[in-house]
Amino acid sequence: MKDTLLVNIGRIVGILPEGVRKLCGKEMDTVQTLDNAWLLVRSGKIDSFGPMDSLGERPSDVEVMDLSGKMLLPAFCDAHTHIVYAGDRQQEFVDKINGLSYEEIAARGGGILNSADLLHNTSEDSLYEQAAQRLEEMISKGTLTMEIKSGYGLRTEDELKMLRVIRRLKENYPVDIKSTFLGAHAVGREYRGRQDEYVDLVCKEMIPAVASENLADFVDVFCDEGFFTVEQTDRILKAGMQYGLRPKIHANELAVSGGVQVGVNYNAVSVDHLERTTDVEMEVLRNSDTMPLMLPGASFFLGMPYGRAKDYVAAGLPVALASDCNPGSSPSCDMRFVMALGCIKMRLTPQQSFNACTINAACAMGAEDVAGSITVGKKAGFIVTNKVMELGFIPYFHHTPFIDKVLI
Ligand SMILES: [Zn+2]
Repeated sequence: MKDTLLVNIGRIVGILPEGVRKLCGKEMDTVQTLDNAWLLVRSGKIDSFGPMDSLGERPSDVEVMDLSGKMLLPAFCDAHTHIVYAGDRQQEFVDKINGLSYEEIAARGGGILNSADLLHNTSEDSLYEQAAQRLEEMISKGTLTMEIKSGYGLRTEDELKMLRVIRRLKENYPVDIKSTFLGAHAVGREYRGRQDEYVDLVCKEMIPAVASENLADFVDVFCDEGFFTVEQTDRILKAGMQYGLRPKIHANELAVSGGVQVGVNYNAVSVDHLERTTDVEMEVLRNSDTMPLMLPGASFFLGMPYGRAKDYVAAGLPVALASDCNPGSSPSCDMRFVMALGCIKMRLTPQQSFNACTINAACAMGAEDVAGSITVGKKAGFIVTNKVMELGFIPYFHHTPFIDKVLI
C-alpha cells in the first residue's frame, strides 16, 4: 500500500494500544472502536489515526482515500491451515455422508495418505498454482496473515516440495505467511507398522533438511489417538527445537491425548484443535505462553464436539480460532464463517469471537507484533466493509456479503 491517508472512516473497529500481545478472559469481551475517523499509512504501516476533527492540515505527500463512512477492520488472521495440497477428496466427502468415520477412512488408507499419494504425483509448479488460487480466495475473504503447513508429503522430498511452495507464496504475495513443518501428520505409507522408524526419519532426515533450506518457522505433530504418541511427539519437538523451530501441536481432536501437556512443556506457540479437553488441560495452559487454538470448521464438517471456548474464556484464558482449511476435515478458508461458528456453536459473543480471529489468532502464530489489531506500528492490512454495522452483523447474517474491499 502506498503512503495513504484514509479519511471519513465511519468507524474503526479493533483498536488496541501498543504492546498488547493477546487478550485473556474478560479482556476478550471488548472491541474498541472510534467513529468518524482518519488513519494514516506510511511505509506499509499504521502511522497514526484519530477522530476527523483532529486531522488538521492534510499531509501533501500522501494519497487520500475517502472511505465515505464505511467501516475499517483489521484483517483476519488464520493461524492453522493446510492450503498446499493436490486435487481434493470428494470421494471421502461422500463416504462421510454415507456414515464412515474419520478413523475408518484413515484405516482404509484414505485420509491424509490419500492426499500424500496425490501430492507425490503432482509437480511443484502445479501444486503452487493450486495453492496460489486458495491463497487468493483467503485474501479476498479478508485474511492477510496466515500459517500454512506441510504434512501431505510424508516423504522427505515431498515435504520439502510443499515447503518450497509455501516459500514461493511468501515471495509472490504481499501477505504475511508463517510456515510449519508437519512431517508427523501421519505415518508415510512405506512406514506402515514401523512408526518409530518413521519418527526417526522425521527427526534425523526431514528436520535437518528443512532447516538447511530455512523452510519453516514452526514444527508441528499430530499428537492424538491413532497418530503420534506423547513420547514420539516429545522426540520430534526436541529435534525441531535443536534447529530453532518452535512447536505448534495438533492435540485432543480425537481423544484426550496428552498433546496439550507436551506442547506447553516445550513452550509451543499454540496447541490446536482441543475438541476434547478436561479441566486439567485448562490448568496446564493457564500461565503458559501457549495459545489455545480451536478449529470450529473441523467440528462443523466432521460433526465432532466443539472446543470449550466459552469455558476457557470464563476461566480467564485466551482463545484463538482458525479455519484448519484442508481437503479432508475443513474445506473452507473463510474466517468470517469461523467467527460465526465461534458465536453460533461455541457461544462466544461477537466481540470474543472477533478477538479470537484477530489479535489472539495473530499471537497463535507469533505475528501479534505486526497483525491482529489497529495499532500504531502494525502493518497496514484492512477489511473495509460496505457500510457501518454492529460487529454482531458479521457472524449473524453470516452469508450476507459485508466486505467492500480488502486493503493491503
Ligand atoms: Zn490441522
